[in-house]
Amino acid sequence: MNESEILDIYQKVGGFRAGHFVFVSGLHADTYINKNAVYPYTGEISKICLDIANKFKGQNIDVVVGPSTGGIILSQWVAHHLSQIEGKDVYSVYADKDGEGFVIKRGYEDIVKNHTVLVVEDLVTTGGSLKKVIAEAQRVGGTVAGAVAVVNRGGVTADMIGNPPTFISLLNVHLEQWPQAECELCQADIPVNTDVGHGKEFLSKK
Ligand SMILES: [Zn+2]
Repeated sequence: MNESEILDIYQKVGGFRAGHFVFVSGLHADTYINKNAVYPYTGEISKICLDIANKFKGQNIDVVVGPSTGGIILSQWVAHHLSQIEGKDVYSVYADKDGEGFVIKRGYEDIVKNHTVLVVEDLVTTGGSLKKVIAEAQRVGGTVAGAVAVVNRGGVTADMIGNPPTFISLLNVHLEQWPQAECELCQADIPVNTDVGHGKEFLSKK
């Protein structure tokens, strides 16, 4: 799939919205990405994950690891498709949130150990979570062969996530955001969206 096909899917399910948004960081923007909007549509998720599986065909992936929460769903579908493509059991496990980090537990560490691992994540902004999950997979004895972000909105590169041999982003989005004082939408009195993001809190403090 090319970038515009991925973008089409996210737009179709309402994952990309134009308007006037306030993020938790306090910054304002004209675009909001709701990565979770796509998960109810299993057909679309399956298509995206088949695309990821095809990109790692023949690379001996044994286990797909996704960080909680969205990554779990991706991990399941990618492993399912890779199992069919490779004609073997490719396992799907997930990393639990653990304070600011991630931990592979529940016995999944034994599945990752001494195996070739693919790490999948839905949205990266700084790449921090992906970097932590890659490090965790290595800590429990896995060999990370690659990492995937479905949407990369922060220009994240392989060196920002610990240099896995392959890092693929299916859709790269350049997201403009500004402090409130520089927000042209505020200056133009465009109403702040209160359905998503931090708009409601912003307005209540005004
Ligand atoms: Zn604004």
